[in-house]
Amino acid sequence: MPDTKIPRQAMPKQRPKERIRNFNEVALGFSAELAQKEAERCIQCKKPFCIEGCPVEIDIPVFIELVAEGDFESALAKIRETNLLPGVCGRVCPQEEQCEIVCVLSKRFEPVAIGRLERFVADWEIREGKMDVPSVAPSTGHKVAVVGSGPGGLTVAADLARLGHKVTLFEALHKPGGVLVYGIPEFRLPKAIVARECEILEKIGVELKLDFVVGRTATVDELFEMGYEACFLGLGAGLPWFMNIPGENLVGVYSANEYLTRINLMKAYLFPEYDTPIRVGERVIVIGGGNVAMDAVRSSLRLGAKEAHIIYRRSRKEMPARDEEIENAEDEGVIFNFLLNPVRYIGNEAGRVKQVELLKMELGEPDASGRRRPVPIEGSEYKMDVDTVVVAIGNGANPLVPSSTPGLETNKWGYIVADAETGKTTKKGVWAGGDIVTGAATVILAMGAGRKAARSMHEYLTTGEW
Ligand SMILES: Cc1cc2nc3c(=O)[nH]c(=O)nc-3n(C[C@H](O)[C@H](O)[C@H](O)COP(=O)(O)OP(=O)(O)OC[C@H]3O[C@@H](n4cnc5c(N)ncnc54)[C@H](O)[C@@H]3O)c2cc1C
Ligand code: SF4
Repeated sequence: MPDTKIPRQAMPKQRPKERIRNFNEVALGFSAELAQKEAERCIQCKKPFCIEGCPVEIDIPVFIELVAEGDFESALAKIRETNLLPGVCGRVCPQEEQCEIVCVLSKRFEPVAIGRLERFVADWEIREGKMDVPSVAPSTGHKVAVVGSGPGGLTVAADLARLGHKVTLFEALHKPGGVLVYGIPEFRLPKAIVARECEILEKIGVELKLDFVVGRTATVDELFEMGYEACFLGLGAGLPWFMNIPGENLVGVYSANEYLTRINLMKAYLFPEYDTPIRVGERVIVIGGGNVAMDAVRSSLRLGAKEAHIIYRRSRKEMPARDEEIENAEDEGVIFNFLLNPVRYIGNEAGRVKQVELLKMELGEPDASGRRRPVPIEGSEYKMDVDTVVVAIGNGANPLVPSSTPGLETNKWGYIVADAETGKTTKKGVWAGGDIVTGAATVILAMGAGRKAARSMHEYLTTGEW
């Protein structure tokens, strides 16, 4: 029986003092008892809004009921019907803005912790040493190329492979997973979880071609010449933005992409065991207020910075990062500096950054994003000593594939133009989805786009109609 008197169960976490000295996961996950107790809170609504809130439409009430009954295996199978990455989504989905925000309980109480339950069942399978590999339809003989192995590409590959198509996944980096492996740090998303979810993909017959840069190693048109009949572009938005202010080319000024890639994918945090150096120094400043900035600043503390600062041009209220991650950062001792913007970096004689000049801001009227616009306060500049700067103000589209693919239209920001419902681009046989279409967004939105594109690609492959 649902019990609304049970409070939302807290997530056990590593204590802040301990966790800033390691890269192990911060959130430790529910025990079976906690999970069942939390699942008992679900009132099994007749009209479950939570399903509508999930971009891949997991049958949330059913999986939660199965958790409450202790049938974790069936709960996981239910989730996997629409989501092959439950261990990832349960950890990094902005649940508070998706499935949980529309939970009926949240009107009077706190919402059911849907994401934490999803993570629990995914982790339960690992603890049990099991791997439920989904069934695959008989081979159709059709060959499909998926470019980019982020959550968008992984979803397309899984869906099409399950329908019996022969899928090859092309990835520029040496490991599959996209931002899940190169961007999001180990302490928020262990790489073993991503690797395992990619392993399931290989088990259902997806071929992985790593270190393969489409647009260089082979163009999209060359993939068609190689016999692929359809192509999905899940390239992500991995091109770092800078502010174009003086001193950004000084040594010690990193883009968040480079900083996080060195730390995560190239394991700089395990130096010298792994041969990737990274310079952190005593005082690190990270420019930006999103999830990427939180990941960079929290990584800096773990790498030994004495002070790790966030410099954000608006106030805490406007910060786009998830509340949970801002709170984690606060607990870990990150120093937040609001209403400030860097105007230049100053180097020493060796060309290394040693200071930043900051300008104070105040908030004006809301801008197009609906957030109050930061307005500079004239003459308020001051300098701060720094050893390392990480610029985390957003990313754009890499032009490599669009520029090497005739007939593929992009918008004024360089993102690929694709139909919102099908993912079809302006080039016959080519689909696109995820951050390369929408700009930097979320894991689950990229997966939702992948799901829609896979449906449309299947129709094309089986009917030949574009
Ligand atoms: C540091 C960081 C933290 C984040 N935190 C969260 C979070 O907590 N929750 C959340 O929901 N979202 C988060 N996001 C956003 C989320 O990760 C992205 O929205 C999501 O990964 C987009 O998926 P995608 O499939 O479009 O592309 P990506 O994950 O970007 O993957 C694209 C892949 O394509 C490959 N590729 C690109 N060009 C080529 C080419 N020419 N040939 C071959 N391969 C190519 C890239 O190497 C990459 O592996 C975060 C992003 C970052 C950077
Ligand atoms: S995938 Fe994300 S949005 Fe969907 S149920 Fe899980 S946590 Fe919620």
